[in-house]
Amino acid sequence: MRTNPVAWVLPVVLVAGVACRSPVPEPSRPPNVLLVTLDTVRADRLRCGGDDPVDTPTIDAIAERGVCFSQATAEAPITLASHSSLLTGLNPNRHGARDNGTYRLDEAVTTLAEVLQAKGYATAAFVAAFTLDARFGLAQGFEVYDDDLEADHPAGRRRKKAWLGHERPYVDRPADAVFRRAADWLAQERERPVFLWIHLFDAHAPYAPPEPFRGRYAGRPYDGEIAFVDHELGRFLERAGERFAEGDVIVIAADHGEAFGENGYEGHGERLHEPAVRVPLVVAKPGTLPRGAVVGELVRNVDVTPTILDLLGVQPDPGLDGRSLVPLAKGEKRIGPPPGSYAETLHPLLRGKRDELRSYRTEDWKYVRHLRDGVVQREELFSLSEDPGELHDRSGAPEFAAERAKLGSRLDEATREERSTPFESTGSGKPTGEIEQKLEALGYLD
Ligand SMILES: [Zn+2]
Repeated sequence: MRTNPVAWVLPVVLVAGVACRSPVPEPSRPPNVLLVTLDTVRADRLRCGGDDPVDTPTIDAIAERGVCFSQATAEAPITLASHSSLLTGLNPNRHGARDNGTYRLDEAVTTLAEVLQAKGYATAAFVAAFTLDARFGLAQGFEVYDDDLEADHPAGRRRKKAWLGHERPYVDRPADAVFRRAADWLAQERERPVFLWIHLFDAHAPYAPPEPFRGRYAGRPYDGEIAFVDHELGRFLERAGERFAEGDVIVIAADHGEAFGENGYEGHGERLHEPAVRVPLVVAKPGTLPRGAVVGELVRNVDVTPTILDLLGVQPDPGLDGRSLVPLAKGEKRIGPPPGSYAETLHPLLRGKRDELRSYRTEDWKYVRHLRDGVVQREELFSLSEDPGELHDRSGAPEFAAERAKLGSRLDEATREERSTPFESTGSGKPTGEIEQKLEALGYLD
């Protein structure tokens, strides 16, 4: 139940009111596109895909105008790798930007921003953390790529500069600062259709929401951060007005979730269990997609780029790993078997030469391979329909040998291509200097 009816009503009126005033965009204007990525937000925190424990009236209102995909997965529990999949439609082993700080997205890879820029879109990105700094390759295709974490940083809100006793300022910035910069850009870009990507880092540890969310979510600071982000998104949409109205595209996605002790793990990055890879996904384009629909089939973050392109009438590259979700959103039957979802993390290697993980999941099963120097160390198999907590490894059970073999060969197929683009040749394969300091400040290094 909603605990704050005022906060709930306001953005609904706002979003719905905007839609009423501008029922359709002028025929000459191509749709504007807003992509909001919520760093570290678990699917189960939202009404879309979860138990709805957090007050998120803005995201709920967007979902009511569009489609909620309640079983969406990320390709990596790592910010750069996962965002690169969201913005290219490629799995990490094909786009090559496979971990924070040590890899980058190669110029040869085509991004959604590059495609839309070529179509005449004004393209801008406003990111909130050092892991997405332009040097790591995601700026390609964006005319404006605002990664200046010191700019417009509200006094007294430098709340994440201290990490484990380290004083490292400006490795991130809060949602209000990001939205203010984005709104300023949007206000002056009035001629062309816009593709605007906004990245919000607030739900990433350490969790320290500002008031009134700190008090309202006492003892649940992570949830308070999500409520704060939703509140700021509402304020931004209010300011954006008719720029994201009926006929325009709004996508709310997340790069990965967060574990709170499940499977003996806290945080994200080193495991592929559901708390870290299951993510929320909302796609709205009133007039084209149904309103308030919920799709429960397995979908993936790599599907986001082809879905946005499809909604704009642009044919996605058939070589992408992702597929448009538009037919599924419209309730059409899938042609052929549903695609499974690939995920990986090379992050454990960075943290001390531990096993890297690869997984392949279907609606009902998840198969995980632990690898060291390319050699399989062990396998895991979970029946997600019977064991959603992934507590019982079935990889050794003879009755599931066929399932294990089938998913193993799907994983082989998904990993036939291997692309890695090191950020720079450091010799050690580890981040150095300023990058090492900033990753450490964000909690990514021991
Ligand atoms: Zn992240």
